[in-house]
Amino acid sequence: MDNFDVIIVGGGLAGLTAAIHLRRENYSVAVFESKQYPHHKVCGEYISNEVTPYLTFLGVSLPQTFQLNEMLLSTEKGEALRAKLPMGGFGISRYTLDNLLYQRALDLGATVFFNSVSSISYENDNFKIGVEPGKEYGCKFVIGAYGKRGVLDKDLQRDFIQLKSPWLGVKAHYKLDSFPDNLVAIHNFRGGYGGLSKTENGAVNFCYLVSYDSFKKEKDIAGFNQNIIARNPYLGTFLNDAEMLFDRPLSIGQISFHKKKPVQKHVIMCGDTAGLIHPLCGNGMAMAIHSAKIASELIHAYFKNGLQNRTRLEKDYETQWNNVFAKRLWMGRQLQDLLLNPKLSNLAMGILANSPYIVNKLIKNTHGQIIQC
Ligand SMILES: Cc1cc2nc3c(=O)[nH]c(=O)nc-3n(C[C@H](O)[C@H](O)[C@H](O)COP(=O)(O)OP(=O)(O)OC[C@H]3O[C@@H](n4cnc5c(N)ncnc54)[C@H](O)[C@@H]3O)c2cc1C
Repeated sequence: MDNFDVIIVGGGLAGLTAAIHLRRENYSVAVFESKQYPHHKVCGEYISNEVTPYLTFLGVSLPQTFQLNEMLLSTEKGEALRAKLPMGGFGISRYTLDNLLYQRALDLGATVFFNSVSSISYENDNFKIGVEPGKEYGCKFVIGAYGKRGVLDKDLQRDFIQLKSPWLGVKAHYKLDSFPDNLVAIHNFRGGYGGLSKTENGAVNFCYLVSYDSFKKEKDIAGFNQNIIARNPYLGTFLNDAEMLFDRPLSIGQISFHKKKPVQKHVIMCGDTAGLIHPLCGNGMAMAIHSAKIASELIHAYFKNGLQNRTRLEKDYETQWNNVFAKRLWMGRQLQDLLLNPKLSNLAMGILANSPYIVNKLIKNTHGQIIQC
């Protein structure tokens, strides 16, 4: 059986960041990822600037792209407010970003397997990872970075997997040169909301989140776009003027925002596997990268600084994870509940439109600080 210091399940932002960080410290690292790179993912593709110095520290060279520092928020009826994003972010497609991290992980000597992990078992202070078809790998630590929800959540008997996850995500890139370079626009519609912003090659990403209840009343994505989304005047104009660059939109189902445990059966969970923030807050990518940093530093401390105590490492990870992310996730939940309630959303937007102070506070509380290296 092949053995590694650390096996990372899932090669998205969290998994690849952890692989890069740990390879820089010379640990033997394997990443298991079910899809080849590069690939598109359902995501708003606005990433907070809090990650930039850390990505530079990891040696990831980001391409020239658009700085996004202004937000436009509109209700279903088109009432809108604008606000500055104090820290701001940048627009980059997951097609490019995940592939950049993958290349960096390879350059540093990480082993990347393109397989789905089907089981994780812990015995005698070590792990066995089961991979289809019937192969096993061993390691001291497992980082679970396999995203929002998957078969492994059943295998690890995670509580949230029993609960309904009634959200659907849809995304496609569009050509619309007149779309402002620095804008993140978030527009409400019945049962959901969608974000618009430019990515590194000038394509405008339109990504939305919608409840199944709202979506299932229409036949398909085209029908939903035409009959529901286009009722928001901003989105109606966008869909009318823009040209879709994908053959068809990408979609994912069963998106879960339920509370999860950052450590389960000794597996250290990073990114969405530990908890997904509502996309309205535009911060899941930064949280994925940040959580990978916290996990990698604690694993390094375990091996190098004499911590050598798994229980302590797990407790420290839980504490740090909660300190950094729990409040943001809570704020995200409250904001989403408010903005998806048609009556409250109009009222709230009316108040917010006249209260730049409250808007700035909300933006601050759903974003993090620059990640210190
Ligand atoms: C509609 C929507 C819009 C969003 N918009 C934004 C935004 O604008 N800005 C932002 O910051 N965040 C946004 N987010 C959140 C953001 O996309 C996530 O927080 C981020 O992708 C988390 O990265 P991750 O590495 O945890 O997971 P992922 O990027 O999902 O990576 C998980 C990886 O694990 C792999 N995998 C899964 N199971 C297995 C297995 N068993 N074996 C091997 N590999 C496996 C998958 O193929 C995948 O590549 C949005 C989310 C949604 C749903």
